[in-house]
Amino acid sequence: MAEKWYKGGLRFTCTQCGNCCTGPPGYVWVTREEIGKIAEFLERKDGSLPEGTLRRVGFRYSLTERSNGDCVFLMTTPEGKKICSIYPVRPLQCRTWPFWNQNLRSPRDWAEAAERCEGMNNGETHNFVAIEKVRLKKSWIEDE
Ligand code: SF4
Repeated sequence: MAEKWYKGGLRFTCTQCGNCCTGPPGYVWVTREEIGKIAEFLERKDGSLPEGTLRRVGFRYSLTERSNGDCVFLMTTPEGKKICSIYPVRPLQCRTWPFWNQNLRSPRDWAEAAERCEGMNNGETHNFVAIEKVRLKKSWIEDE
């Protein structure tokens, strides 16, 4: 197998700017297990998510977004800071950014993604093993 271009590691530390939680329409995939965790976190007795926060896409589910492109669970603090209101139970997709296959395909893909994320190429260095662990992760719930 060819050596991965990021074998020397990559730098990333999230600054919590909220930029990846907004923008053009997209999908934030959530599994049934994750929906259950979010519902529990929100103290929803029936285990469902609040109306309008979830949509079905084929056989899968995605969180919805507001008309301005913000994730439905992105909140603005009185100081104007954007924060994730379900951070402790955020979906795998949010946890594994930016170490996604599509960003790791090539240095160019990584650089393109970094244009929208100020945390990439900054801060902590993640070694190859750590990156691969995140890239291949299938669930965060098993870690609990
Ligand atoms: S865009 Fe990058 S730095 Fe900003 S919140 Fe998302 S992951 Fe963090």
